[in-house]
Amino acid sequence: APLPVHFGFENTYARLPEHFYARLNPTPVAAPRLVKLNVELAVKLGLDPNALASPEGVAILAGNRVAQGSEPLAMAYAGHQFGHFVPQLGDGRANLLGEVMGRDGKRYDIQLKGSGPTPFSRRGDGRAALGPVLREYIVSEAMAAMGVPTTRALAAVMSGEEVMREGFMPGGVLTRVAASHLRVGTFQYFAARGDTDSVRKLADYAIARHYPEAAETAGPYLALLTGVIGRQARLVAQWMMLGFIHGVMNTDNTSISGETIDYGPCAFLEAYHPEKVFSSIDQQSRYAYDNQPRAMLWNLTRLAESLLPLIVEEQGGEEAGLASAKEALAGFQPQFEASRMAGLGRKLGLSMEQEGDAALALDLLERMAANEADFTLTFRRLCDAALDAEADGAVRVLFAVPEAYDVWAAQWRSRLREQPGAAERVAAMRHANPAIVPRNHLVEQALEAAAGQEDFTLFEGLLEAVCHPFEDRPELTKYTTPAQPQEQVRYTFC
Ligand code: AMP
Ligand code: MG
Ligand code: MG
Repeated sequence: APLPVHFGFENTYARLPEHFYARLNPTPVAAPRLVKLNVELAVKLGLDPNALASPEGVAILAGNRVAQGSEPLAMAYAGHQFGHFVPQLGDGRANLLGEVMGRDGKRYDIQLKGSGPTPFSRRGDGRAALGPVLREYIVSEAMAAMGVPTTRALAAVMSGEEVMREGFMPGGVLTRVAASHLRVGTFQYFAARGDTDSVRKLADYAIARHYPEAAETAGPYLALLTGVIGRQARLVAQWMMLGFIHGVMNTDNTSISGETIDYGPCAFLEAYHPEKVFSSIDQQSRYAYDNQPRAMLWNLTRLAESLLPLIVEEQGGEEAGLASAKEALAGFQPQFEASRMAGLGRKLGLSMEQEGDAALALDLLERMAANEADFTLTFRRLCDAALDAEADGAVRVLFAVPEAYDVWAAQWRSRLREQPGAAERVAAMRHANPAIVPRNHLVEQALEAAAGQEDFTLFEGLLEAVCHPFEDRPELTKYTTPAQPQEQVRYTFC
């Protein structure tokens, strides 16, 4: 009998050549239980939330049933992990179920993560612990609410099985929604094998799906590269603007669509410092806060290398191809800087860019670093201070030496006076400076209660809060207050 859940799956990726993936069904779990369903996202995707929450729906979300029309597969990809090339990674614990057309007319991948071993599992068990599943749920939904391009979480289930990590812990399966799961590493997989024909097929697929305008140009493959560079430059600028540290910016975790993907040991800054690292696996600080643009450019250079044979052909020769790829890569830093400066301008309420704005913004960041000022609170409280100097008191106390703020605030204020429209400016500031981000200690507490006691109250509360990041709700001080010294999270794990 047909299942009550109608996804309307399409499977364009499964139409690509067989060596792009391994077809296989998810491995069923012992006792699936729905932890959370993203009702709003389900509706956006044209899915019936009630059907998804039914036993049949949950069975699909756990990988225990294959939905009608789904052709599950594990994608092949390679990747540079912390600078070291691994020619075969691939979905070691994920199944792409298929694609659905959202109500916005866009195509979305539906993927299960933690759904059992695949031919790409290497030594892994193919599973995910519930904690990291819920971390990805919270952080990706927070990013979406803050307007950052990101994969989304449609559902989290408990598997009723244990996984061995730092001890035994409950297992989980995440249902992830993405514009696609194409990665820089997907291109590297074929490029490393000298399989230019497959690189071309993949590039054509990526263009059709994410950069259709590139197909209209004289050089579609160069336009694809340029397009990815532009989106990633803006994406990393947005991360920086929110104090977000991805933590594992390997090329296999760098998406072609320009979405944030693969939330592992990620974190949001509390006390601002440009060299901050939280990821327990980032021992060389390769992906420290301030290194993120450089790391992204490095990854995009690997994409350029993978596409180079196509670009050389298209540009009519080695020299021309190389020169145009280099030029495209040279566009990263200026686009990143422009996005970052425009963003900082919005964060500071400086609507029309003027000479000296960059210096003013960077001066604030330096003072914040020297004074261990909380990143989120400082910018949020500046919204009030922009309207009324009386509100300076709440900002200056965030600085170890409050006078460090006063000196800066005097310059900022004289700059603010040069432009009209205070009220609109502050409204815009309130949309650039979230009140609530998923603070690391709150995420840890929520994950611990969920995985340890099957108590999801903290998870639910935090999720609700981070989904409304720009609202001032006085009853939510718990979510806006930095960690107390004993609550501080130094390292994040995946
Ligand atoms: P990540 O660090 O999550 O981006 O994963 C890097 C690679 O390791 C990918 O190929 C994953 O599919 C694979 N991987 C991570 N965890 C597991 C696991 N528990 N079992 C199998 N493969 C895994
Ligand atoms: Mg195959
Ligand atoms: Mg990954």
